[in-house]
Amino acid sequence: MPRIVKFFETTLRDGEQTPGINYFPEEKLEIARALADMGFDTLDCGFAASGEPEFAALQLISRSVSNAEICSICRCYPDDIDKAWAAVKDATQASIHPFISTSPLHREVKLGKTRQEVLEMARTGVARGRQYTPNVDFALEDTTRTEHDFILEIVGAVVKEGARFVALCDTVGFALPWEFGQLVAEVKREFPGVRISAHCHDDLGLAVANALSGLINGAERVDSCFNGLGERAGNAATEDVVMAIRTRRADLDLDVRVDTTKIIPTSRLIARLSGMQPQWTKSVVGANAFAHGGGIHQDGVLKDARTYEIMRPEDIGLPPSERRMYVGKLSGRAALNAQLKELGYDLTPDQLLRAFQLVKHLLGKKRVLEEMDLRQCAETAINPTATLEDLMASASDTAE
Ligand code: MN
Repeated sequence: MPRIVKFFETTLRDGEQTPGINYFPEEKLEIARALADMGFDTLDCGFAASGEPEFAALQLISRSVSNAEICSICRCYPDDIDKAWAAVKDATQASIHPFISTSPLHREVKLGKTRQEVLEMARTGVARGRQYTPNVDFALEDTTRTEHDFILEIVGAVVKEGARFVALCDTVGFALPWEFGQLVAEVKREFPGVRISAHCHDDLGLAVANALSGLINGAERVDSCFNGLGERAGNAATEDVVMAIRTRRADLDLDVRVDTTKIIPTSRLIARLSGMQPQWTKSVVGANAFAHGGGIHQDGVLKDARTYEIMRPEDIGLPPSERRMYVGKLSGRAALNAQLKELGYDLTPDQLLRAFQLVKHLLGKKRVLEEMDLRQCAETAINPTATLEDLMASASDTAE
Protein backbone atom coordinates (compact mmCIF):
# COMPACT_ATOMS: atom_id res chain seq x y z
CA MET A 1 0.00 0.00 0.00
CA PRO A 2 1.40 3.42 -0.89
CA ARG A 3 1.99 5.81 1.98
CA ILE A 4 -0.61 8.61 2.14
CA VAL A 5 1.01 12.06 2.13
CA LYS A 6 -0.42 14.66 4.50
CA PHE A 7 -0.88 18.32 3.66
CA PHE A 8 -0.31 21.47 5.64
CA GLU A 9 -2.19 23.65 3.18
CA THR A 10 -0.99 27.20 3.67
CA THR A 11 -2.85 29.11 0.93
CA LEU A 12 -4.50 31.17 3.67
CA ARG A 13 -1.27 32.01 5.51
CA ASP A 14 1.95 31.86 3.45
CA GLY A 15 -0.27 32.32 0.39
CA GLU A 16 -1.73 35.48 1.86
CA GLN A 17 1.80 36.78 2.39
CA THR A 18 1.96 37.08 -1.40
CA PRO A 19 2.45 40.81 -1.86
CA GLY A 20 -0.81 42.18 -3.20
CA ILE A 21 -3.22 39.73 -1.55
CA ASN A 22 -5.57 40.67 1.28
CA TYR A 23 -8.56 38.42 1.91
CA PHE A 24 -11.47 39.56 4.04
CA PRO A 25 -12.59 37.08 6.74
CA GLU A 26 -15.61 35.83 4.76
CA GLU A 27 -13.37 35.22 1.75
CA LYS A 28 -10.90 33.28 3.88
CA LEU A 29 -13.81 31.19 5.12
CA GLU A 30 -14.96 30.46 1.57
CA ILE A 31 -11.46 29.29 0.61
CA ALA A 32 -11.08 27.29 3.83
CA ARG A 33 -14.34 25.47 3.12
CA ALA A 34 -13.18 24.61 -0.40
CA LEU A 35 -9.81 23.31 0.86
CA ALA A 36 -11.41 21.30 3.66
CA ASP A 37 -13.92 19.78 1.24
CA MET A 38 -11.03 18.64 -0.97
CA GLY A 39 -9.62 16.65 1.94
CA PHE A 40 -6.54 18.56 3.05
CA ASP A 41 -5.54 17.60 6.59
CA THR A 42 -4.47 20.89 8.15
CA LEU A 43 -5.31 24.38 6.95
CA ASP A 44 -2.75 26.97 7.98
CA CYS A 45 -5.16 29.90 8.14
CA GLY A 46 -3.14 32.80 9.47
CA PHE A 47 -0.99 34.50 12.06
CA ALA A 48 -3.30 35.34 14.98
CA ALA A 49 -0.93 37.84 16.59
CA SER A 50 -0.63 39.93 13.43
CA GLY A 51 -3.77 41.91 14.19
CA GLU A 52 -7.51 41.99 14.74
CA PRO A 53 -8.70 41.12 11.19
CA GLU A 54 -6.49 38.04 11.08
CA PHE A 55 -7.59 36.95 14.55
CA ALA A 56 -11.23 37.41 13.54
CA ALA A 57 -10.74 35.39 10.34
CA LEU A 58 -9.08 32.56 12.24
CA GLN A 59 -11.88 32.52 14.79
CA LEU A 60 -14.55 32.56 12.07
CA ILE A 61 -12.96 29.64 10.24
CA SER A 62 -12.41 27.72 13.48
CA ARG A 63 -16.07 28.02 14.39
CA SER A 64 -17.33 27.16 10.90
CA VAL A 65 -15.08 24.47 9.40
CA SER A 66 -15.04 21.10 11.13
CA ASN A 67 -13.74 18.80 8.40
CA ALA A 68 -10.09 19.91 8.59
CA GLU A 69 -7.64 20.90 11.30
CA ILE A 70 -7.37 24.69 11.63
CA CYS A 71 -3.95 26.13 12.48
CA SER A 72 -2.50 29.50 13.45
CA ILE A 73 1.21 30.15 13.30
CA CYS A 74 2.97 32.10 16.04
CA ARG A 75 6.40 33.32 17.02
CA CYS A 76 7.91 31.76 20.13
CA TYR A 77 6.73 34.62 22.35
CA PRO A 78 4.25 33.73 25.12
CA ASP A 79 1.75 36.34 23.95
CA ASP A 80 1.87 35.08 20.33
CA ILE A 81 1.30 31.50 21.42
CA ASP A 82 -1.61 32.47 23.68
CA LYS A 83 -3.23 34.47 20.86
CA ALA A 84 -2.76 31.63 18.37
CA TRP A 85 -4.50 29.19 20.66
CA ALA A 86 -7.25 31.66 21.54
CA ALA A 87 -7.96 32.12 17.81
CA VAL A 88 -8.31 28.42 16.96
CA LYS A 89 -9.39 26.77 20.20
CA ASP A 90 -13.05 26.57 19.16
CA ALA A 91 -12.23 24.44 16.12
CA THR A 92 -13.28 20.78 16.12
CA GLN A 93 -9.63 20.06 15.26
CA ALA A 94 -7.11 22.77 16.13
CA SER A 95 -3.34 23.16 16.06
CA ILE A 96 -0.75 25.87 16.59
CA HIS A 97 2.57 26.24 14.89
CA PRO A 98 5.34 28.16 16.64
CA PHE A 99 8.42 28.97 14.58
CA ILE A 100 11.79 30.64 14.94
CA SER A 101 14.62 31.41 12.54
CA THR A 102 17.57 29.13 13.08
CA SER A 103 20.17 30.12 10.47
CA PRO A 104 23.23 32.15 11.54
CA LEU A 105 22.24 35.00 9.23
CA HIS A 106 18.74 35.25 10.65
CA ARG A 107 19.95 34.76 14.23
CA GLU A 108 22.51 37.51 13.99
CA VAL A 109 20.92 40.04 11.65
CA LYS A 110 17.22 39.57 12.21
CA LEU A 111 16.85 38.32 15.77
CA GLY A 112 20.11 39.46 17.39
CA LYS A 113 20.17 36.23 19.36
CA THR A 114 22.72 33.54 20.08
CA ARG A 115 22.30 29.87 19.27
CA GLN A 116 21.59 29.19 22.93
CA GLU A 117 18.90 31.87 23.09
CA VAL A 118 17.20 30.60 19.94
CA LEU A 119 17.29 27.03 21.25
CA GLU A 120 15.74 28.14 24.53
CA MET A 121 12.97 30.10 22.79
CA ALA A 122 12.13 27.11 20.59
CA ARG A 123 11.96 24.84 23.61
CA THR A 124 9.86 27.14 25.77
CA GLY A 125 7.61 28.02 22.82
CA VAL A 126 6.69 24.40 22.22
CA ALA A 127 6.32 23.78 25.96
CA ARG A 128 3.90 26.70 26.32
CA GLY A 129 1.85 25.53 23.33
CA ARG A 130 1.71 22.03 24.79
CA GLN A 131 -0.04 23.43 27.88
CA TYR A 132 -2.98 24.12 25.55
CA THR A 133 -2.95 21.22 23.10
CA PRO A 134 -0.97 18.18 21.96
CA ASN A 135 -1.26 19.56 18.40
CA VAL A 136 1.82 21.75 18.46
CA ASP A 137 3.99 21.69 15.35
CA PHE A 138 7.27 23.54 15.14
CA ALA A 139 9.04 25.19 12.21
CA LEU A 140 12.73 25.98 11.91
CA GLU A 141 12.64 29.03 9.67
CA ASP A 142 15.53 29.07 7.15
CA THR A 143 16.48 25.50 8.08
CA THR A 144 18.38 24.95 4.84
CA ARG A 145 20.93 27.67 5.70
CA THR A 146 21.38 26.45 9.28
CA GLU A 147 24.37 24.51 10.66
CA HIS A 148 23.42 20.83 10.63
CA ASP A 149 24.50 20.22 14.22
CA PHE A 150 22.24 23.06 15.31
CA ILE A 151 19.30 21.68 13.28
CA LEU A 152 19.67 18.37 15.10
CA GLU A 153 20.02 20.12 18.46
CA ILE A 154 16.80 22.10 17.95
CA VAL A 155 14.84 19.15 16.55
CA GLY A 156 15.92 17.06 19.54
CA ALA A 157 14.85 19.78 21.96
CA VAL A 158 11.41 20.46 20.47
CA VAL A 159 10.62 16.76 20.03
CA LYS A 160 11.47 16.26 23.70
CA GLU A 161 9.00 19.03 24.56
CA GLY A 162 6.33 17.19 22.58
CA ALA A 163 6.31 18.84 19.15
CA ARG A 164 4.08 16.79 16.86
CA PHE A 165 5.43 17.70 13.40
CA VAL A 166 8.72 19.46 12.74
CA ALA A 167 8.76 21.60 9.59
CA LEU A 168 12.10 21.74 7.83
CA CYS A 169 11.94 24.95 5.87
CA ASP A 170 13.64 25.99 2.68
CA THR A 171 12.36 29.45 3.47
CA VAL A 172 14.38 31.17 0.75
CA GLY A 173 14.12 28.46 -1.93
CA PHE A 174 17.87 27.85 -1.88
CA ALA A 175 18.08 24.06 -1.58
CA LEU A 176 18.67 21.59 -4.39
CA PRO A 177 16.39 18.55 -4.42
CA TRP A 178 19.01 16.00 -3.37
CA GLU A 179 20.28 18.32 -0.59
CA PHE A 180 16.80 18.73 0.83
CA GLY A 181 16.25 14.98 0.66
CA GLN A 182 19.56 14.35 2.45
CA LEU A 183 18.60 16.82 5.16
CA VAL A 184 15.32 15.03 5.80
CA ALA A 185 17.10 11.67 5.81
CA GLU A 186 19.73 12.97 8.25
CA VAL A 187 17.10 14.22 10.71
CA LYS A 188 15.17 10.94 10.40
CA ARG A 189 18.37 8.95 11.04
CA GLU A 190 19.04 10.89 14.23
CA PHE A 191 15.39 10.92 15.40
CA PRO A 192 13.58 7.97 13.76
CA GLY A 193 10.25 8.84 15.39
CA VAL A 194 10.15 12.46 14.26
CA ARG A 195 7.38 13.49 11.88
CA ILE A 196 8.66 15.91 9.26
CA SER A 197 6.83 18.47 7.15
CA ALA A 198 8.57 19.87 4.06
CA HIS A 199 8.18 23.64 3.64
CA CYS A 200 9.74 24.64 0.32
CA HIS A 201 9.79 27.93 -1.56
CA ASP A 202 10.11 28.36 -5.29
CA ASP A 203 12.80 31.02 -5.77
CA LEU A 204 14.72 28.71 -8.12
CA GLY A 205 11.67 26.85 -9.41
CA LEU A 206 12.59 23.83 -7.28
CA ALA A 207 9.91 23.90 -4.58
CA VAL A 208 7.89 20.93 -5.82
CA ALA A 209 11.02 18.90 -6.61
CA ASN A 210 12.40 19.67 -3.15
CA ALA A 211 9.13 18.72 -1.47
CA LEU A 212 9.00 15.39 -3.37
CA SER A 213 12.61 14.72 -2.48
CA GLY A 214 11.73 15.35 1.16
CA LEU A 215 8.80 12.95 0.92
CA ILE A 216 10.73 10.05 -0.56
CA ASN A 217 13.35 10.54 2.15
CA GLY A 218 10.86 10.23 4.98
CA ALA A 219 8.90 13.48 5.30
CA GLU A 220 5.22 12.74 5.95
CA ARG A 221 3.70 16.09 5.12
CA VAL A 222 4.03 18.91 2.61
CA ASP A 223 3.40 22.61 3.19
CA SER A 224 1.89 23.97 -0.02
CA CYS A 225 -0.14 26.80 -1.54
CA PHE A 226 -2.69 26.69 -4.34
CA ASN A 227 -1.64 28.33 -7.61
CA GLY A 228 1.93 28.48 -6.26
CA LEU A 229 1.14 31.55 -4.17
CA GLY A 230 3.31 32.57 -1.21
CA GLU A 231 6.14 34.89 -0.25
CA ARG A 232 8.20 36.11 -3.26
CA ALA A 233 8.15 33.35 -5.89
CA GLY A 234 5.70 31.35 -3.80
CA ASN A 235 5.55 27.94 -2.16
CA ALA A 236 5.35 24.46 -3.63
CA ALA A 237 2.05 24.56 -5.54
CA THR A 238 -0.59 22.35 -3.96
CA GLU A 239 -1.98 21.23 -7.30
CA ASP A 240 1.49 20.26 -8.54
CA VAL A 241 2.37 18.21 -5.48
CA VAL A 242 -1.03 16.50 -5.54
CA MET A 243 -0.92 15.64 -9.24
CA ALA A 244 2.77 14.69 -9.26
CA ILE A 245 2.05 12.16 -6.53
CA ARG A 246 -1.19 10.96 -8.08
CA THR A 247 0.26 10.66 -11.58
CA ARG A 248 3.45 8.89 -10.47
CA ARG A 249 2.11 7.09 -7.40
CA ALA A 250 3.23 3.66 -8.57
CA ASP A 251 6.84 4.85 -8.83
CA LEU A 252 6.82 7.03 -5.70
CA ASP A 253 4.90 4.48 -3.63
CA LEU A 254 3.00 7.49 -2.28
CA ASP A 255 -0.55 8.69 -2.75
CA VAL A 256 -2.85 11.51 -1.68
CA ARG A 257 -6.26 11.42 -0.07
CA VAL A 258 -7.55 14.48 -1.85
CA ASP A 259 -10.46 14.98 -4.25
CA THR A 260 -8.47 15.96 -7.33
CA THR A 261 -11.63 16.73 -9.32
CA LYS A 262 -11.99 19.91 -7.25
CA ILE A 263 -8.56 21.24 -8.23
CA ILE A 264 -9.78 23.52 -11.03
CA PRO A 265 -12.81 24.94 -9.18
CA THR A 266 -10.67 25.61 -6.09
CA SER A 267 -7.83 27.11 -8.11
CA ARG A 268 -10.31 29.42 -9.86
CA LEU A 269 -11.94 30.45 -6.59
CA ILE A 270 -8.54 31.39 -5.18
CA ALA A 271 -7.53 33.16 -8.39
CA ARG A 272 -10.73 35.22 -8.24
CA LEU A 273 -10.48 36.16 -4.57
CA SER A 274 -6.73 36.80 -4.66
CA GLY A 275 -6.93 38.75 -7.91
CA MET A 276 -3.97 36.73 -9.21
CA GLN A 277 -4.45 34.49 -12.21
CA PRO A 278 -1.94 31.67 -12.65
CA GLN A 279 0.34 32.23 -15.63
CA TRP A 280 -0.99 30.60 -18.81
CA THR A 281 1.71 27.93 -18.83
CA LYS A 282 1.33 27.14 -15.10
CA SER A 283 1.41 23.37 -14.59
CA VAL A 284 -1.96 21.68 -13.96
CA VAL A 285 -4.10 24.83 -13.57
CA GLY A 286 -2.75 27.23 -16.23
CA ALA A 287 -5.09 28.17 -19.08
CA ASN A 288 -2.76 26.38 -21.51
CA ALA A 289 -2.06 23.28 -19.41
CA PHE A 290 -4.36 21.26 -21.69
CA ALA A 291 -4.10 23.39 -24.84
CA HIS A 292 -2.22 22.30 -27.94
CA GLY A 293 -0.63 24.63 -30.46
CA GLY A 294 1.60 22.62 -32.80
CA GLY A 295 0.00 20.73 -35.68
CA ILE A 296 1.84 17.50 -34.92
CA HIS A 297 0.73 17.63 -31.27
CA GLN A 298 -2.85 18.46 -32.21
CA ASP A 299 -3.07 15.58 -34.63
CA GLY A 300 -1.77 13.25 -31.93
CA VAL A 301 -4.16 14.49 -29.25
CA LEU A 302 -7.15 14.26 -31.57
CA LYS A 303 -6.23 10.62 -32.29
CA ASP A 304 -5.54 9.78 -28.63
CA ALA A 305 -5.07 12.40 -25.90
CA ARG A 306 -2.49 10.22 -24.16
CA THR A 307 -0.01 11.07 -26.93
CA TYR A 308 0.59 14.49 -25.33
CA GLU A 309 -1.35 14.54 -22.06
CA ILE A 310 -0.25 12.71 -18.92
CA MET A 311 -3.32 13.70 -16.92
CA ARG A 312 -6.97 13.58 -17.90
CA PRO A 313 -8.75 16.95 -17.73
CA GLU A 314 -11.67 15.35 -15.90
CA ASP A 315 -9.33 14.12 -13.16
CA ILE A 316 -8.64 17.72 -12.12
CA GLY A 317 -12.18 18.93 -12.75
CA LEU A 318 -11.50 20.61 -16.08
CA PRO A 319 -14.45 20.11 -18.43
CA PRO A 320 -13.26 18.09 -21.48
CA SER A 321 -14.63 20.92 -23.64
CA GLU A 322 -11.90 23.14 -22.21
CA ARG A 323 -9.16 21.04 -23.75
CA ARG A 324 -8.27 23.59 -26.36
CA MET A 325 -7.01 23.14 -29.87
CA TYR A 326 -5.39 26.42 -30.66
CA VAL A 327 -5.64 27.46 -34.28
CA GLY A 328 -2.48 29.41 -34.93
CA LYS A 329 0.39 29.78 -37.37
CA LEU A 330 1.89 26.45 -36.33
CA SER A 331 -1.27 24.44 -36.02
CA GLY A 332 -2.50 21.83 -38.45
CA ARG A 333 -5.51 20.80 -40.49
CA ALA A 334 -6.74 18.26 -37.95
CA ALA A 335 -7.16 20.95 -35.28
CA LEU A 336 -8.84 23.34 -37.72
CA ASN A 337 -11.22 20.62 -38.82
CA ALA A 338 -12.07 19.81 -35.20
CA GLN A 339 -12.60 23.47 -34.41
CA LEU A 340 -14.79 24.07 -37.46
CA LYS A 341 -16.86 21.00 -36.64
CA GLU A 342 -17.56 22.53 -33.25
CA LEU A 343 -18.75 25.65 -35.05
CA GLY A 344 -21.07 23.53 -37.19
CA TYR A 345 -19.06 23.21 -40.42
CA ASP A 346 -18.49 19.84 -42.04
CA LEU A 347 -16.04 20.54 -44.86
CA THR A 348 -14.93 18.26 -47.67
CA PRO A 349 -11.17 17.58 -47.82
CA ASP A 350 -10.82 20.18 -50.62
CA GLN A 351 -12.77 22.79 -48.68
CA LEU A 352 -10.75 22.07 -45.55
CA LEU A 353 -7.50 22.52 -47.48
CA ARG A 354 -8.71 25.86 -48.81
CA ALA A 355 -9.91 27.00 -45.37
CA PHE A 356 -6.55 25.96 -43.96
CA GLN A 357 -4.70 28.05 -46.55
CA LEU A 358 -6.93 31.02 -45.80
CA VAL A 359 -6.26 30.66 -42.07
CA LYS A 360 -2.50 30.62 -42.67
CA HIS A 361 -2.72 33.71 -44.90
CA LEU A 362 -4.77 35.50 -42.31
CA LEU A 363 -2.30 34.66 -39.56
CA GLY A 364 0.38 36.45 -41.52
CA LYS A 365 -1.63 39.65 -40.97
CA LYS A 366 -3.43 39.10 -37.71
CA ARG A 367 -1.95 37.78 -34.50
CA VAL A 368 -4.94 35.91 -33.07
CA LEU A 369 -7.98 34.53 -34.86
CA GLU A 370 -11.38 34.79 -33.31
CA GLU A 371 -14.45 32.66 -33.92
CA MET A 372 -15.70 35.14 -36.51
CA ASP A 373 -12.45 34.79 -38.46
CA LEU A 374 -12.70 31.00 -38.51
CA ARG A 375 -16.30 31.24 -39.70
CA GLN A 376 -15.25 33.58 -42.50
CA CYS A 377 -12.50 31.19 -43.58
CA ALA A 378 -14.96 28.29 -43.63
CA GLU A 379 -17.61 30.27 -45.54
CA THR A 380 -15.03 31.45 -48.06
CA ALA A 381 -13.72 27.89 -48.51
CA ILE A 382 -17.24 26.64 -49.17
CA ASN A 383 -17.89 29.51 -51.58
CA PRO A 384 -14.66 29.72 -53.60
CA THR A 385 -15.73 32.80 -55.60
CA ALA A 386 -14.88 34.92 -52.57
CA THR A 387 -11.29 36.14 -52.52
CA LEU A 388 -8.77 36.54 -49.78
CA GLU A 389 -9.31 40.30 -50.05
CA ASP A 390 -13.03 39.84 -49.30
CA LEU A 391 -12.04 37.74 -46.39
CA MET A 392 -9.60 40.29 -45.04
CA ALA A 393 -12.20 43.02 -45.42
CA SER A 394 -14.89 41.12 -43.55
CA ALA A 395 -12.82 39.35 -40.90
CA SER A 396 -13.23 40.81 -37.44
CA ASP A 397 -10.50 43.37 -37.40
CA THR A 398 -8.15 43.79 -34.51
CA ALA A 399 -4.98 43.28 -36.53
CA GLU A 400 -1.90 44.83 -34.95
MN1 MN B 1 7.18 30.19 3.98
